[in-house]
Amino acid sequence: MSTTVNLTNPIFTDLDKAREHFEAIRWPDGTYCPFCGTFDRVAALGGKSMGAGWYHCKDCRRKFTAAVGTIYERSHIPMTKWLLATHLMCASKKGISAHQLHRMIGLPYKTAWFMAHRIREGMRDLTPASPLGGEGKVVEIDETYVGGKEKNKHRNKRSANNIGGTGKEIAFSLVERGGRVRSHHVPSVTAKTLRPILEAQIDAATTVMSDDGGARVSKMFAKHATVNHSIGEYVRGEVHTNTIEGYFSILKRGIIGTYHHVSQQHLKRYLAEFDFRYNERSTLNVTDLERATKAVKGVVGKRVTYQDTNSSYPKMAH
Ligand SMILES: [Zn+2]
Repeated sequence: MSTTVNLTNPIFTDLDKAREHFEAIRWPDGTYCPFCGTFDRVAALGGKSMGAGWYHCKDCRRKFTAAVGTIYERSHIPMTKWLLATHLMCASKKGISAHQLHRMIGLPYKTAWFMAHRIREGMRDLTPASPLGGEGKVVEIDETYVGGKEKNKHRNKRSANNIGGTGKEIAFSLVERGGRVRSHHVPSVTAKTLRPILEAQIDAATTVMSDDGGARVSKMFAKHATVNHSIGEYVRGEVHTNTIEGYFSILKRGIIGTYHHVSQQHLKRYLAEFDFRYNERSTLNVTDLERATKAVKGVVGKRVTYQDTNSSYPKMAH
């Protein structure tokens, strides 16, 4: 795999450097207690018994590290490995499989698989700041079908309105031209499932473009234009869905080529990963380092409960 990750960076090999790097991202304004929030009355704990990176809060009298309150907490995976895995995932346009990750970071496959899901969780934008689009802006919307059994993969999406039994899952995405994407795992393509997403996430003054399936939302926006794919029309002046189709092609090449199979319960995390890389892409002047730093920052305040994963959830290696 070609990668722009500088593997000689000491944060990937030196535990103290890795910890300091994470602390600087976690606590840009200085160390504070994750339990009670106090800034002033925290002190580094010296001494060999605890190891480096432990702090003590004189207000609530608890001990903590920078990993407390993040998805790294209680993982026992060295910070060097978390950082390397995150940087590799951020630099791989089509994603990186758990097998590849396992080989590159030198931890067991199941551990790599588990880390990848946690890192994806860090990439999820749980509180999008503002709706997409606005006056004079264009947002393209469309759905695509991912996953499913090999024998169903060539099934034409237009004949698959009833996809029961094919094992395919539906991703519904909104892309602002020259801007950001937001993808959703939806149970069906109906006004009932799509309207709440569109209402919450697209400014009403936006010009929305879709293919001919988009008639279901036509009244919601200032302007809505469609290209009629069913009669072979793909571009009519400014009216097209090329942006979102480009995004779907990256998503599908990644999911089919790299991940091979994406289960229903994890699709939202894979979508988060591809959305994240698209939104932090180099054409928006985001560097690989900035993208990885943002992914690391995203682990703060998120806790993964693995009730929704399978029972083979691996024990972390000590
Ligand atoms: Zn405290």
